[in-house]
Amino acid sequence: MPEFIPFALPDIGEEEISEVVDSLRSGWLTTGPKTKRFEQYFADFIGSGVEAIAVNSATSGLHLALEALGIGPGDEVITTVHTFTATAEVIRYLGANPVFVDINLATLNIDASKIEAAITPRTKAIMPVHFGGLACDMQSILTIAQKHQLKVVEDAAHAIPTTYQGKLIGSLDSDVTVYSFYATKTIATGEGGMLVTRNPEIAQRCRTMRLHGINRDAFDRYTSTKPSWYYEVVAPGFKYNMTDVAASLGIHQLKKAKTLQQQRAAIANRYNIELSDLPLHLPALPADGDIHSWHLYVIRLADSVQVSRNNFIEQLAAKGIGCSVHYIPLHLHPYWRDTYNLCLEDFPQASYASERIVSLPIYTKMTEADQTHIIEIINKTLT
Ligand SMILES: *Cc1c(COP(=O)(O)O)cnc(C)c1O
Repeated sequence: MPEFIPFALPDIGEEEISEVVDSLRSGWLTTGPKTKRFEQYFADFIGSGVEAIAVNSATSGLHLALEALGIGPGDEVITTVHTFTATAEVIRYLGANPVFVDINLATLNIDASKIEAAITPRTKAIMPVHFGGLACDMQSILTIAQKHQLKVVEDAAHAIPTTYQGKLIGSLDSDVTVYSFYATKTIATGEGGMLVTRNPEIAQRCRTMRLHGINRDAFDRYTSTKPSWYYEVVAPGFKYNMTDVAASLGIHQLKKAKTLQQQRAAIANRYNIELSDLPLHLPALPADGDIHSWHLYVIRLADSVQVSRNNFIEQLAAKGIGCSVHYIPLHLHPYWRDTYNLCLEDFPQASYASERIVSLPIYTKMTEADQTHIIEIINKTLT
């Protein structure tokens, strides 16, 4: 048993290490052939004719997506209050305003039945977040979007390889889907992200804005009479490209995505069984036949539990178990609270959940003995 069981741990194998070394030896460190390979492989993995655009983070990808969709000052984008700040901050990058919606307590996903009430004449888009790796009610969200002519950008930072009604997230009818490969995510490149879309114009804009607004596709470099060093800047773009070092990790992590998911699902399944008699609410399960990525395993302490959530986490930490909280909802952070005058009563479900939720350790390298220890300690703490 390790001295401390962390909350999350990446799973990097020899294949990833060799590929990174190969990149280092090749002399090509930044965006190059490995990034292109990762993009092609990712697009094939999602299927449905999507294009994949590699970026240096999901935050960058979400920013590019909203920019490409024309979101600008004064526009409104509807999203969940129960998310990481990155989801909402990219809306502010463009001078637009997030409009936060409460969650469904069981799934911790945006409550789709509350979205229509949040729509105003300024609403331009909806950004659902597949919290923890469980798909949102995308049928309702896409129907609302279509009815009100809104764009949909899925924050799929947790959602590879999550499915909804049998289809991988990323292959649904939304405009753009963005994944994160941050160190703790289900597939990891340290820092990194991927944006997928079926719309060629959005793809083109995101590619241009990903690298300084440079457009190299405006002319054919091989048949053009322009020299190979020539390029045109068509917009004040960003510096959001992925490095080949990161892509080297991504190529092999993606190959393992389904295996890694099965390992996570096995851990989740054991928690589901062995914690079922305790005074806590287990995470919602996916619909029959669908895949939960199990990026997070979030329990909610029952009202009957006397120990506070913070104390529960402290007690587990004292026994060498690293828990976390996902998330402190955005309406409790000073910036969001004060900028938009948000209060607890605006989001009763998220406010309630925020006091009771705990993310338990879940990562593929967790041993059976580790999990036995975690389950034992939780049992002792709650009974
Ligand atoms: C991790 C995360 C992001 C940001 O991902 P980065 O790759 O770190 O930029 C965005 N949204 C959610 C819900 C996340 O968990």
